[in-house]
Amino acid sequence: MFESPFNESLIGKAKEKGLLNINAIDIRSFSKDKRKKVDDKPFGGGAGMVLKPEPVYAALKSLTARKKRGQTRRVIYMSPQGSPLNNSIVKDLSKYSHLVILCGHYEGVDERIMRFIDDEISIGDYVLTGGEIPAMVLVDAVARMIKGVVKEEASVKNDSFYNGLLDYPHYTRPSVFKKMQVPEVLLSGDHKKIDEWRQKQSYERTKKRRPDLIKQKLKIESGK
Ligand code: SAM
Repeated sequence: MFESPFNESLIGKAKEKGLLNINAIDIRSFSKDKRKKVDDKPFGGGAGMVLKPEPVYAALKSLTARKKRGQTRRVIYMSPQGSPLNNSIVKDLSKYSHLVILCGHYEGVDERIMRFIDDEISIGDYVLTGGEIPAMVLVDAVARMIKGVVKEEASVKNDSFYNGLLDYPHYTRPSVFKKMQVPEVLLSGDHKKIDEWRQKQSYERTKKRRPDLIKQKLKIESGK
């Protein structure tokens, strides 16, 4: 499941350049069961299966037993019940040298595993069949924060959320498409005016689409 997304495009290139390293570990290979079983029926009955604690613990331990010198680590469980993922969490996680990400399945993981988890993170208020896609979302977002992964750093810094606002609109050639004209200012060559226009667009867009972000930005800026 992880092979194609992590070997293509910017993430694939970043791996080739040695900017990041991604290893997928199969929990099944830590099962002591003859048939490599990793799930069981829930105590108390009810629908669905639960990931058993022993193989999950053994898998986590194989990754966290030793810490290399200078290594900083965070152990994350992808879960719809976790903190909603946002850019501030992404920025924070990009400062760690090692992230261990546990992907759940079925009804989830035996609750006793939560003692070995630093953060539970959700990618939104909906439920997916497994934690792999959420883990891919997290890895992709964190990878973009690592210097060199995205060629132009300014591009990351101008993106939505980085400074608390949404991005400004983008246009490319041709200057007229289906009778729609690119805003005049972008063709003016006046970089000061272009910057001002973009900042205004970014602010207006955020105000219209995500007023909650403006409120949050003002709160952060006023230190309250
Ligand atoms: N019974 C769980 C609940 O209602 O909270 C849902 C389990 S879900 C079918 C199986 C796994 O998918 C979860 O353990 C989790 O790892 C992953 N998952 C599903 N939705 C997710 C989301 N919105 N964010 C992060 N992980 C999610």
